[in-house]
Amino acid sequence: MYYHSFLIKYAEIAIKGNNRKYFEDALVRRINYALKGAEGAFHTRKTQGRIYVDAEGEYDYDEVISRLTEVFGIAYICPVVLLEDGGPDKLGADVVDYVNQVYPDKDFTFKVEARRARKNFPLNSMEINAFLGEKILEAYPETSVDVHDPDEIIYVEIREKICLYSKSIDGSGGMPVGTSGKMMLLLSGGIDSPVAGHMIAKRGCKIDAVYFHAPPYTSERAKQKVIDLASIVSRYAGPIYLHVVNFTDIQMMIYKTCPHDELTIIMRRYMMRIAEHFANEQGALGLVTGESIGQVASQTPQSLICTNDVCTLPVYRPLIGFDKNEIIERARAIDTFDTSILPYEDCCTIFVAKHPVTKPRLKGIVKSEQLLKGIIEPVYDETLRTVQVLKVTPEGAEDVTPNADADKAHGNDPAETDQ
Ligand code: ATP
Ligand code: MG
Repeated sequence: MYYHSFLIKYAEIAIKGNNRKYFEDALVRRINYALKGAEGAFHTRKTQGRIYVDAEGEYDYDEVISRLTEVFGIAYICPVVLLEDGGPDKLGADVVDYVNQVYPDKDFTFKVEARRARKNFPLNSMEINAFLGEKILEAYPETSVDVHDPDEIIYVEIREKICLYSKSIDGSGGMPVGTSGKMMLLLSGGIDSPVAGHMIAKRGCKIDAVYFHAPPYTSERAKQKVIDLASIVSRYAGPIYLHVVNFTDIQMMIYKTCPHDELTIIMRRYMMRIAEHFANEQGALGLVTGESIGQVASQTPQSLICTNDVCTLPVYRPLIGFDKNEIIERARAIDTFDTSILPYEDCCTIFVAKHPVTKPRLKGIVKSEQLLKGIIEPVYDETLRTVQVLKVTPEGAEDVTPNADADKAHGNDPAETDQ
């Protein structure tokens, strides 16, 4: 069956009142972004409180569906056939042909739900329902009508053209990216943080990211893996500005100066401080991590008190109550898992102590950190100065590191999600 168009249905609850236009415009931008690079040409339009994606000419149906199911804010996707109005008899024949092509197995119950938006069509809605129901029953006696609980509803809308649809494919739900502000994701090469980013984006947040690497202890391949993960997440979340922070000197200084069983916690405190710095610079409204209670020593509630302590912005931890196998399931579903398990080193594993504290006390950690006072500040400033910024999209990464004097805020234009 050739579908001329896709009707995009969204959850009405999110778009009460004044939010509607904002929500719909963001959704249209996200749909255009998702279809960029797909085979074929598409035009997205808003009409009468509906969003349609019209196809122009040939396209790959499976590819379009797969891309649209990656757009947050879509509840259902309905493939639509557009018919020229040639009167009731032609409509009857077209609908019978549609049922034949779309339902190879005719053993189902149905009802027709017609809407006559254009009043010069000779039958009214009730008459169209009865007329088409009869035509289908005549052509396919295996079918039967059930107006209360049908297997299939055949929608017929008499507009300028006649829209015919009955299939509905689940979208991913959530809210269009860009409608809930921006968050700064701490993105490592692991399994968890890409999933955390995906979940936050699903609630409508645009995401920027920070990655800490420690050359020469961590390799270019480890960095490339994080770029690849950001690229996969950007299919759902739009372009991601990835801040690549060279963390080696800070880590070395902590390693040389602080008790080894507290290294990870102190290191994580510096990660949070740096992430917050870039979050503020970019107007992000919170930090996002892939932490889950008790997963490792640095994620016990006591450890989380210590890392949280250095943040002023809220820290969102969407995976906090998930078991690892639940996270893995999600990683597989969003296509990040195979990349996440590539065996490259992470900066956290290089300087890790044999027996890290699992129940650190904040006072003790703050005291140990005092040892860095007076020596770490220039290193910290240099670390911020030498950040590399990459704009990551599904197509790849582009270095967009601002020069020293430039205005450093990037990607705050809502139209960015088009790019
Ligand atoms: P992940 O699978 O996300 O790497 P993890 O189980 O390895 O998580 P940790 O290494 O303790 O857990 O890190 C907890 C969180 O801290 C990560 O989910 C991520 O948000 C952040 N994080 C850890 N290492 C880095 C890094 N090198 N760069 C950026 N963020 C990091
Ligand atoms: Mg990790």
